[in-house]
Amino acid sequence: MFIYFFCFTVFVVVLLWLFQSVFLDIIYKNVKLFDMRHCAESLIESVEHNDIEGGVRFASSKFNSCITVYQINNATGKTVASNHIQTTCVIHNISADSLLNDMYNGAKAEKYYVKRVEFGTVGKNAGKSSDATDAEQDYSGAATVIMSSVVSYSDTDYLILIDSEVLPMASTIRTLNYQLTIISVILIVVAAILSVIISKKLAKPFNTMSKEAALLATGKYDVNFDNTAFLEAKQLGDALNYAAGELSKLDSMQKELIANISHDLRTPLTLISGYSEVMRDIPGEMTPENMQIIIDETERLSLLVSDLLELSKLTGGEVITHPEVFNLNRIIEDTIKRYDKLVERKGYRIVYEADRNVTVKADKTRILQVLYNLINNAVNYTGEDKTVKVSQTANDGKVRISITDSGDGIFPDELPMIWEKYYRGSSFHKRETVGSGLGLSIVKKVLLLHGAHFGVTSKPGFGSTFWFELDEYNSN
Ligand code: ADP
Repeated sequence: MFIYFFCFTVFVVVLLWLFQSVFLDIIYKNVKLFDMRHCAESLIESVEHNDIEGGVRFASSKFNSCITVYQINNATGKTVASNHIQTTCVIHNISADSLLNDMYNGAKAEKYYVKRVEFGTVGKNAGKSSDATDAEQDYSGAATVIMSSVVSYSDTDYLILIDSEVLPMASTIRTLNYQLTIISVILIVVAAILSVIISKKLAKPFNTMSKEAALLATGKYDVNFDNTAFLEAKQLGDALNYAAGELSKLDSMQKELIANISHDLRTPLTLISGYSEVMRDIPGEMTPENMQIIIDETERLSLLVSDLLELSKLTGGEVITHPEVFNLNRIIEDTIKRYDKLVERKGYRIVYEADRNVTVKADKTRILQVLYNLINNAVNYTGEDKTVKVSQTANDGKVRISITDSGDGIFPDELPMIWEKYYRGSSFHKRETVGSGLGLSIVKKVLLLHGAHFGVTSKPGFGSTFWFELDEYNSN
């Protein structure tokens, strides 16, 4: 911080020094010549408008210069108008001698002829002037600058002489340099103090936050990041507080999931070991029904494990889809067929309505997964009428599949969370069918992978409708 402040101060001081010392002379000279040229232009105009006296008065006061306009006749000059406002003026202290000739000849050669005359030469040798050309002349000493210009009007030449005093720059530059030294010292001291104060102020909230972040890394999710400092620190504090909140939520969901999965694993395992022992120890218990229970529970276990594997595959790293063209209606019908036994034994009703046969291009295995998970949930959560409605509508190249149940529905505040992995709703889990508890997060990942629209509408007490949309495949 100090280095930045120091560099900035040095930069400002150097800039001031360049403009106040090094370039001051050049800038001053250019401004002076620019003004004199303007003055000469306005005088030329007044000669051309035959208002020489008025033009001289006006230009003299406007440009703070002494002016004389001569009418040139046979190499002699007759004063037509003149205005004298400076005591150090050269042109009003000379008679029409060599300087006048010099200025006349010069103005004949160059439109705006410039000459610098040192003080002290006036009267003695008024024509003596610096021989340096305009560009080389040094304007730092006390002197005066004369500019001449010739204008012709009614076959007569008029010589315009403008005299402007040049201030001694050397002493001004010395004064400015002295001031600059004092300003530089003050600026550097102020920069040092400011940098200490500001860096402390800036670093404090970040130091505290990094300590709190270290606590967060150790699993202490209840840390509270300070978000009362300046805007950026406040934003970072808010972001970290949000991250801590999310991590803590994820942590508790993960713990809950482990508890749920352990429970889900233990239930079939208990059944399998119980039935196996009965079949081993009790003669006559080796019945096909008992064997079927063991087979069903083994299936439930294997589905749970494969869902866990699938989710970890979908969550980590690149997921490759294998799109193929297939008949969507057939896939839906096949999925519904898997529930035939449940329909037969427990009185469930799965109603399927389709607009027409449609083909889509998608990863068939994964779309099957989506359908299975959504229908499975609907069967699990549907109401007393044990009815689940599956419908397919096709419109404008889009196919929409909706799965509706008549269960308790989902509370609006729970809706955004049901898609989260590890999230399990507060509603009663009937578990009529096999479920892994990871269904909707798999559904969400697969549909996102397909760039499909999906969603849910639900009214507590009246059931829910889960839907998703795929592009209809058109071979053309
Ligand atoms: P699981 O159903 O095995 O708990 P899911 O990821 O499939 O896991 O669903 C997450 C949560 O969403 C469920 O715990 C439940 O609260 C809610 N949910 C899903 N489908 C329905 C449905 N059809 N009706 C009511 N709630 C549902």
